Amino acid sequence: MGKVVLEVKDFSFRYRQTKQKAIKNISFQVEEGSFFCIIGANGSGKSTLCNALVGLIPHYFVGKMSGEVFVNGMKVEDSTIADLSAKIGLVFQNPFNQLSYTAGTVAEELAYGLGNRGVSHEEMVKKVEYVAKLMRIDHVIHKNPLELSGGQIQRVALGSTFIMEPRVLVLDECTTQLDPLGSEEIFDIVKSLNQKGITVIMVDHEMERVARCADKIMVLDGGEIVAIDIPERIFETPDIVKHRIGVPDYVKICQSLREKGYTKREIEIAEEPTIELVKEALKG
Ligand code: ADP
Ligand code: MG
Repeated sequence: MGKVVLEVKDFSFRYRQTKQKAIKNISFQVEEGSFFCIIGANGSGKSTLCNALVGLIPHYFVGKMSGEVFVNGMKVEDSTIADLSAKIGLVFQNPFNQLSYTAGTVAEELAYGLGNRGVSHEEMVKKVEYVAKLMRIDHVIHKNPLELSGGQIQRVALGSTFIMEPRVLVLDECTTQLDPLGSEEIFDIVKSLNQKGITVIMVDHEMERVARCADKIMVLDGGEIVAIDIPERIFETPDIVKHRIGVPDYVKICQSLREKGYTKREIEIAEEPTIELVKEALKG
């Protein structure tokens, strides 16, 4: 295993005024530069975990916490959210929750977080230009963020997180509110950031995408880890669907083919399974 950039140790959290723990005794590590995906049904604790990784738990949400989270060796509980934002950044599902609502332009919105950092004006302009290009919003930089399309607003939100230069990005279903094109655009950017060495922790329910991109997948159910493995092994476990997660279509097809008696080798040889073969397998 390479250098560990994120470590969660026996972490549990219960929101105030709830009886059940949202997260129970979770332990895992994420390797620097990897693409780590978190999947699980609604209410399985994915967002709670994201909040814990970036320090919103315990610094913002009130409740009962035990265990520890370390980002680059820095203990989240003992660090400020401001200090953490230089190490790890979270992009929410709803970009409107991420906007400052005080910035009149996209450029100001991007620069917003840098305001408290003592960055010179010149440096700020450079950073804004760089990030705007990276997020493909350089053509709308003088517009009001609220005039943009959903996909553009989400890219502004991603940009305003990324401009703080975190080495770890946490994405909590940040493409669910977008159309397929807007969603792919965000995802392309995330992939290119990962190729630049940024560690990505992504909550997603697009299983095709998860299977294609994840180095490792963690499956949550009822606030607990039920599996943590490479995609091939996660989706080859027939029981995995009992945790109310989807599986990619090609996995379903392969499983049906296998159940019909086709061997794994035959499936692999059929470079593109013929439509007849697939129809036959899915019958009944
Ligand atoms: P997911 O993101 O996987 O849908 P969540 O982390 O949002 O799951 O929720 C996990 C559990 O915690 C759920 O039972 C949910 O109702 C509860 N929960 C989430 N946010 C809050 C909150 N702010 N206050 C109280 N309970 C919450
Ligand atoms: Mg959620």
